[in-house]
Amino acid sequence: MGDFLVEVILTAKGQREMLLKEDTMVEVLAPGKLNLGLNVLGIRPDGYHMLDTVFVMVDIFDTITLEERKDNRIVINCDHPLVPSGSDNIVWQAVRKMQAMSGVTKGAEIVINKRIPVGGGMAGGSSDAAAVLRALPYLWKLEVERKMVKKIACQLGADVLYCFLGGVQRGKGIGTDLTGIVSKCKLSFAVLPQPYEITTSKVFKKWDALADKTTYQINDIEKALVSCDNKLLRSVLGNALEPAVIEIQPELEQNLTSLRSKGFNAQLTGSGSTIFVVLDDQKDILRLQKKYNGEILQCSLLTSLPDVKCYTK
Ligand code: ATP
Repeated sequence: MGDFLVEVILTAKGQREMLLKEDTMVEVLAPGKLNLGLNVLGIRPDGYHMLDTVFVMVDIFDTITLEERKDNRIVINCDHPLVPSGSDNIVWQAVRKMQAMSGVTKGAEIVINKRIPVGGGMAGGSSDAAAVLRALPYLWKLEVERKMVKKIACQLGADVLYCFLGGVQRGKGIGTDLTGIVSKCKLSFAVLPQPYEITTSKVFKKWDALADKTTYQINDIEKALVSCDNKLLRSVLGNALEPAVIEIQPELEQNLTSLRSKGFNAQLTGSGSTIFVVLDDQKDILRLQKKYNGEILQCSLLTSLPDVKCYTK
């Protein structure tokens, strides 16, 4: 594999000039997301749930490499046993939709290196799909309208548009009504992957039947992010899906309670099993390492998406 020849940023303008003709491979990083607070506001007639949440990205990445195929086939290889390699992979669906939208007759050979916990509420699949939507115009040397790609993102799933845009965003509606939050905070997190894969649709079914539908102050989370008030942020975090997730996976309650009793405001992200803690300082992580037995991934807030990298084989 050769060195990276160019680093390019996905902008509609100037994209063609920045590509070198001989580039045949593209590498893109797909970051995981965390929900810093989540409320469920109700259900739409079509069965989708309406949310109010704050999305952030962290520097835990899946790495995806794409190589052009002359035929229109999509071949996926992934190092994680729970991730499908055929048309069930959301990445496969993203590529098919880009082929259909652009009329391109080429295909792609794709390798996914999975680091984001699967089914953990960190939008691993959605982020992979979004990363591939960012990468394909480079691989196939296409000029595509950003608005068309955003449309595909929305068709692929509720979290894909956020993953395509990145940044710190308030998400409403089904998660696709996004408003950017300007935050210059340097936030550190401890992400604690749990060995449970939780299905989003099951969580929402459980939420429908909950008697106690607690809600949280998402406005305060936004305020804390704008003013970089870490103490306020940690005091207002909350995920309305937590009781529903715990009904599906009761073992999680023990871990959350144990962490909270030791002074860590542990939270779940999205509809998944992954626990996270907003860290105050380096002492916090050392304290956590002493008190918690499982895997700890220390990570930071990402305010922008990583560049797509193009290179020759
Ligand atoms: P979200 O936070 O968007 O609800 P999640 O993080 O809980 O999602 P994912 O890791 O995206 O869940 O995986 C959910 C399911 O999607 C898995 O069971 C997996 O089989 C399937 N899947 C399809 N494509 C992928 C992919 N590229 N990466 C991970 N999972 C995938």
